[in-house]
Amino acid sequence: MTRRSLLSFIASSPLLFSAEKALASGFEITRTDAQWRAMLSDAEYKVMRQEGTERAGSSPLDKEYRAGVFSCRGCDLPLFSSETKFDSGTGWPSFYAPLENAVQTRDDHKLFMKRTEVHCRRCGSHLGHVFNDGPEPTGLRYCMNGVSMKFTAA
Ligand SMILES: [Zn+2]
Repeated sequence: MTRRSLLSFIASSPLLFSAEKALASGFEITRTDAQWRAMLSDAEYKVMRQEGTERAGSSPLDKEYRAGVFSCRGCDLPLFSSETKFDSGTGWPSFYAPLENAVQTRDDHKLFMKRTEVHCRRCGSHLGHVFNDGPEPTGLRYCMNGVSMKFTAA
């Protein structure tokens, strides 16, 4: 392959194109603020797009222990399996591990302490925070907002 044909091959690669697009917008799936407002309830918008926190114990998903998958309300990406869910006693749906390639994290310095914020890797919607006081085997506690997720029973 010559250098020129290699370059045109790279330029026409759909994989590279989507990677570039994702870099430009930050996330693979993007919506305007108006689109988010139209598709989400006020409570969902506040949590998912403004990093709010639902009232503890307010989500029916906190007590959801059937076998199934918890997916992103913003883009339907499967985020957590019921297999990693546990009762943290906090009033928020809690998991010790996300599904592979489902979430991303970033440092959050709000509330005068350092926490690790968790969001959907595909649409950027805020999900909750992850802490180091979870159970085995990971020792992690993914403390999630139920309004950011949809449950589908297996
Ligand atoms: Zn999403």
